[in-house]
Amino acid sequence: MKTIQSVAFAIALCCTTSLKAQENTVTISQLSPKETAVILVDLQNDFTECNKGSLAVSGTQADYIKSVAEAVRFFRAKGFFVIATQDWHPKGHISFAQSHGKEKPFTCITLADKREQMLWPVHCVQGSKGAEIVSPLSKLIDCTVRKGTNLQYDSYSGFKDDGGEYTALQKLLVDKKINHLIVFGLAADYCVKETAIDGKTLGWNIFLVADLCRGVNEKTTEDALQEMREKEIHILDFSALKMHAVKE
Ligand SMILES: [Zn+2]
Repeated sequence: MKTIQSVAFAIALCCTTSLKAQENTVTISQLSPKETAVILVDLQNDFTECNKGSLAVSGTQADYIKSVAEAVRFFRAKGFFVIATQDWHPKGHISFAQSHGKEKPFTCITLADKREQMLWPVHCVQGSKGAEIVSPLSKLIDCTVRKGTNLQYDSYSGFKDDGGEYTALQKLLVDKKINHLIVFGLAADYCVKETAIDGKTLGWNIFLVADLCRGVNEKTTEDALQEMREKEIHILDFSALKMHAVKE
């Protein structure tokens, strides 16, 4: 397992170099279906209001899910590979306030190893209804990458957890020779941001579809967008992307 990961990482570094050279010249209209994947971040029952999720993000009623589904259908029709990330925690996960006695959700604590950990209500427990990908999106994805599966480490990023362990995502993208990622989902200020930034750091060209994201908090969402912009992640709305994408 370790060897496979190191090989994948080496390949990703090669991609980084070649992409860096092209980066300034790549525009949406130049995206090739074979080289482009969609990353649908954490569209799960527990994060949505319409499914009465335990950690529902504001603005995630049925109309939001409808817009996301419309976009995913559009990208599928263009031939893009669609990957969903799925928060998938064991019971008693380190990110649950309940796992820390009297601590309250939405507070930040310092763990014994000095890491800062934001605490959340219990959510996306492995095998639970709340952890399932929202319908009908579950039927529109090509594959799912699970994250946050280690009891001791949280994982906002779809690429790696707080302990530095990589998920299957990087190897999957390298194997499929993907160069460009279209990223959107929940929540903009946490898992979407970390997934987009890790993807960018690992060498992919990232398009963040802002109007198809929802954030936990207005201020942290604004900050997240600013941070992503500074890291040269392309931020645009679906209408703009739809208008320009995609030449076969
Ligand atoms: Zn989580």
